[in-house]
Amino acid sequence: MKKIASLHFATLAAAFSCFSISSYADSNSACYDRLTQPSLAIVDSHLHFRPFGGAPIPHKDLALMLKNAGIRYANVFGIGQTLPYDSSCTYYLNCPGTPVIPSLKNDIINAQNVTELPVQEPKLTLSMSFADLSKPETVKAGMSELDQEFPGLFKWMGELNLVKQALFANGHQPVTLAEIRNWKPFMDTLRERNMPIGLHGDLGNNENPTKYLDLITEVVNQYPNNKVIWLHMGLSKELTNIDPDTHIKILSNLLDKYPNMMIDLSWRVIADNYFFKPEIRAKYVPFINKYSTRILPGTDFVASNDKTFDSYLGELMATSYIYRFVDNNAFRNIALGQNYFDMLGLPDKAPNICDNQVKVQ
Ligand SMILES: [Zn+2]
Repeated sequence: MKKIASLHFATLAAAFSCFSISSYADSNSACYDRLTQPSLAIVDSHLHFRPFGGAPIPHKDLALMLKNAGIRYANVFGIGQTLPYDSSCTYYLNCPGTPVIPSLKNDIINAQNVTELPVQEPKLTLSMSFADLSKPETVKAGMSELDQEFPGLFKWMGELNLVKQALFANGHQPVTLAEIRNWKPFMDTLRERNMPIGLHGDLGNNENPTKYLDLITEVVNQYPNNKVIWLHMGLSKELTNIDPDTHIKILSNLLDKYPNMMIDLSWRVIADNYFFKPEIRAKYVPFINKYSTRILPGTDFVASNDKTFDSYLGELMATSYIYRFVDNNAFRNIALGQNYFDMLGLPDKAPNICDNQVKVQ
């Protein structure tokens, strides 16, 4: 598996080596030429500015990395699982037994950085990542605290953990159906403020691929008027072999039934296990084309300070790989950001695709 992924990555890197990413970012051409311009997303709607533990990449350095990779818009997530400050770990999987919990601290630091160290590009959107979905009664108070300190700045909520099996060894438990039903007060506020909420909700695992489907279903069923984003399409390192037809059917049914629901394609784990494989990719491409207004792009990069520009670019290239194969509408809606602009009510418009395009497929 690893071999396949790195092979594709090498091909990908070679394919991109012929253009300058910064010149792409400066491009102002009237239409977007998919034959000569990159297939990379210009929006990163799923990006953790704070690591699980240890030191982050300094804010301005990260902003510059994004700009140099061609990113023009990015969401500023904290992290939904914070290691204790005195832990020597930077990754929770290396420290089973160490509790990881959501915290307001990350959101406050992100907001301070965004306000005190402003950058022109990319345009940054702050997201509240502190909320503990199994303690819904605490969420509104946290929102008020952030609003009081940083009025009007937070426009998104997430990434929050509905169920994340990778964290089970660190004390995380799936949110229960009863707890989901108690989200109403804060979900009402999010809806009134038109704030999307992004949920990490594992669909299942290789032994039982739909084990947790009832949780995300309960969320959209209880809160059909909220903008709910099912992150990673429910996939994870624990679910690497679901039959694409089964998965696509689940996604299609939910998207058809709940018009405010979105999904994101973030995390290179999806590319490694699904999109890099031609037979599997061939199943997802028509799905992505059909539901192209319901999908957001993202890397799921976690900005711990051991990472470099190449680490970011590698994740952007891997998570953007699928965009080489989608149709012009989907490319514009997802990779060029139209869905993201619509989601946030921004007046920005993604460029049209030049109409002389021969589609790669
Ligand atoms: Zn994430």
